[in-house]
Amino acid sequence: MLSGQTFVVIGLGKSGIGAAKLLLRRGARVVALDENAAATKPFEDPNFELKAGPFPAEFWKGATAVVVSPGVPLSKPELVAAKASGVPVYGEIELAYRTMPKGAGPLLGITGTNGKSTTTALLGELVKHHVPRTFVGGNLGTAFTLAYESPEEPPYDQHVIELSSFQLEGVKDARFKVAAILNLTADHIDRYANQDAYGLAKARIFEGQQPGDFAVVNADDAEVVKLSRLSKVPVYAFTLDGARTNPGFTGLAVGAKEKFIFNFGTPTVFTVTNRALRGAHNLQNAMAASLMARLAGIPDAAIQKGLDSFPGLAHRLEFVRERGGVEWINDSKATNVDSSLVAMKALAGDVLLIAGGKGKGAPYEPLVEAARGKVKAVFTIGKDAPLIAAAFAGVCPIHDCGTIEKAVAQAAEISTRGDTVLLSPACASYDQFKHFEHRGDVFKTLVRALS
Ligand code: ADP
Repeated sequence: MLSGQTFVVIGLGKSGIGAAKLLLRRGARVVALDENAAATKPFEDPNFELKAGPFPAEFWKGATAVVVSPGVPLSKPELVAAKASGVPVYGEIELAYRTMPKGAGPLLGITGTNGKSTTTALLGELVKHHVPRTFVGGNLGTAFTLAYESPEEPPYDQHVIELSSFQLEGVKDARFKVAAILNLTADHIDRYANQDAYGLAKARIFEGQQPGDFAVVNADDAEVVKLSRLSKVPVYAFTLDGARTNPGFTGLAVGAKEKFIFNFGTPTVFTVTNRALRGAHNLQNAMAASLMARLAGIPDAAIQKGLDSFPGLAHRLEFVRERGGVEWINDSKATNVDSSLVAMKALAGDVLLIAGGKGKGAPYEPLVEAARGKVKAVFTIGKDAPLIAAAFAGVCPIHDCGTIEKAVAQAAEISTRGDTVLLSPACASYDQFKHFEHRGDVFKTLVRALS
């Protein structure tokens, strides 16, 4: 119990609210600071105070700790000053870790630029077949601070946690039994001074590891391999390169064409034929999750069972329906060109592509290159329609649809047996939808309504 103690919570977004509630449940007093002068209390509690607007001077005085939301950089001068005064400053993941009930099982942590949610959900599936009381959440779904929302919640036997680099910045002692970095590409450049700083934030996932723990990394990603050298525990890696031999790794998983093999201990072959895991990127996600499961003590048979039963995540190459021999796929999560490229590579030929929306300024040419000989027609929607049409000019027929309703109707009319109709917009959705989930849901409703 934390009665008599005061915590300062910085930022009252989803995670700040989770942190505040957790602390209040444990009897602490919480002072929340939010720079947004218009911020209001999301709930009432006699031990909960909100100070909206500029941070008061020496706001940390008398506090046990300052808990920072992932949206607030720790480099903020007020937080640097708080830390310099000797008050512990950490994030919500650290707080959740420190307040786990006695008997709670280990943490399995996943970070990376892409594939975090898929790998987290998949690992949850692999683990749950063997360990029914498993918490799956973090950056995805339920915040870790809410894992033990009810004080009566019995401890979970495993915790599968998705971690963003922002969340990892605020990690101090949190110990991950197995910690994975999936990949590292330029992202969040607005928040980090450079790519190295971004990588180092991700590598904090290794910080609290102890003997008996494991790291899992992508052997095909040079930046990740570099970061793996910061790990103090045995490192297992996955690769799509059958010729790779990697001194420095304790074990390697090697994948090719709907299969992968663990080439350590007794070599074991796993199959990845589940439609929810198609594409080389998902083979990587499957290898990462399976390595983590094995290192967490899950038997191979349970791993294979989970690989087969994984239902997939909505809006990521999500199968919607088959109609007259045509497959319809919702990849609304592809909000940039890179993500649509991944989808393009994952699918075989005869694709009818629905793309467009609020573009992010990156050129569409790489998508056109990957689409050559594979995409039969493009149906453009939203603000960037003219740019996409210009990029695909001369490559395949282009249908200027404007709206998703029109695009679905036209694709339904033109498609023939054996085709795949893919919504993979390569753009954000905000010009026509609330968010990418909204766009995907509208698409699915339209597709299911086709007679
Ligand atoms: P995140 O949670 O990191 O955003 P998701 O699992 O939600 O990742 O996947 C988001 C998108 O990233 C997918 O739609 C796909 O385009 C791409 N992606 C998924 N896994 C990988 C991977 N291992 N490598 C590269 N890109 C990937």
